[in-house]
Amino acid sequence: MNSSLQKTQKRLLTLGFSLPKYGADGDYGKEADDAFNAALDQLVTLRSLVATPPTSLPPPMPSTSIDIKDRVIPAGWMPDAKITGIIFHWTAGQNKASDLDRSHYHLLIEGDGKHVRGVPSINLNSLPKSKSGYAQHTLNCNTGFIGVSLCGMAGAIESPFSAGKQPITRVQWDELANVLAQLCKRYGIKVSRKTVLSHAEVQTNLGIKQKGKWDIARLPYDTSIQGAAAIGDQMRAMVQSKL
Ligand SMILES: [Zn+2]
Repeated sequence: MNSSLQKTQKRLLTLGFSLPKYGADGDYGKEADDAFNAALDQLVTLRSLVATPPTSLPPPMPSTSIDIKDRVIPAGWMPDAKITGIIFHWTAGQNKASDLDRSHYHLLIEGDGKHVRGVPSINLNSLPKSKSGYAQHTLNCNTGFIGVSLCGMAGAIESPFSAGKQPITRVQWDELANVLAQLCKRYGIKVSRKTVLSHAEVQTNLGIKQKGKWDIARLPYDTSIQGAAAIGDQMRAMVQSKL
């Protein structure tokens, strides 16, 4: 760094701008470059603020943080349909929804809590009879049932338990309660073990045989709670508290 740049840097530091300390080797790298540019931008903004009457101040920046508890399912994702229940799953895939994942469920929740619409519309699973292209999420239990899925658990093993490299997260679990509550409201579903249940509970609670499905009988981030019934009950309580 040459001496005039050092002088400029010193002056900017004195004025309270945050700049990286230039190295003893005099290296004037990208970090310093970026910091100088940011400081210059701030100076330009400050100058324009001083020169402009207060009535034309720019509006405050909108907040960029989104409270995931406020995520709302778009109305278009919930068309009129006769629905009696919701079955929640994991995809056994990645934390991001793939096209294959989307073909099986009506709504998916990615690792960061983001909602992704599945390919089949909910009305295709409406009673009294599913229509062509309906979501096939649960063996012999699709008509009248919405399928919601948490993206993740690729390569997971039930026993001894291993969550694999893409475990489902607490964010997804919390978001599931939000999604289920909105679906229950929209379709007039009363929360019970027969109406809001995990895939792992279908065989026991509805008497419809499944092929060894264990989603969701484990929560990778909380091993203090185990088994389909206990985990299903926890989710139902979370949903109920939102209704
Ligand atoms: Zn499933």
